[in-house]
Amino acid sequence: MQKILVSACLLGRPVRYDGGSKRLDDTLLDAWKAEGRLVPVCPEVMAGLPTPRPPAEIEAGAGGAAVLDGRARIRDDAGGDVTAAFRAGAEAALAAARDAGCRYALLTDGSPSCGATFIYGGAFDGRRVGGQGVVTALLETQGIRVFAEHQIADLAHALAEDGSAPTEQARPNRTTLRP
Ligand code: SF4
Repeated sequence: MQKILVSACLLGRPVRYDGGSKRLDDTLLDAWKAEGRLVPVCPEVMAGLPTPRPPAEIEAGAGGAAVLDGRARIRDDAGGDVTAAFRAGAEAALAAARDAGCRYALLTDGSPSCGATFIYGGAFDGRRVGGQGVVTALLETQGIRVFAEHQIADLAHALAEDGSAPTEQARPNRTTLRP
């Protein structure tokens, strides 16, 4: 059975920078949880960062790959350099994925760690830009396919094509995001 690395905040765990969660209500996620497929991780907590913690963003014009390459930093909203902790969190998430044999991940979009299709622009002004967080960038270099929470139906299709899920689980998205 194919295991899925999943952002812990999507499972309702209060690990986000603001002390909240980002629970994803979705029958697919419920089914995968019941099957024991899910491997929850919060890379930032795994790196030893506190909760709550200051918001952080990747420098303007860069994404997770540039952080991994040492070409960009991640800073909190006071200008503090938190790059090392975020990189450590990404390494911890990769180790957890490897330990469990995960080839797929479902991560929280927008995060400088877990973002899969967008991140924030580096100025703490709420502006979204296309790109990946540092965890997503690292996982993908290792061949792990990463899906954002709004792509959960695509993940179900990928699992089905991989022979890792009943085809009836591949269905149109029925996702409700809680604030
Ligand atoms: Fe959620 Fe990832 Fe942020 Fe942790 S690092 S709170 S799992 S988005």
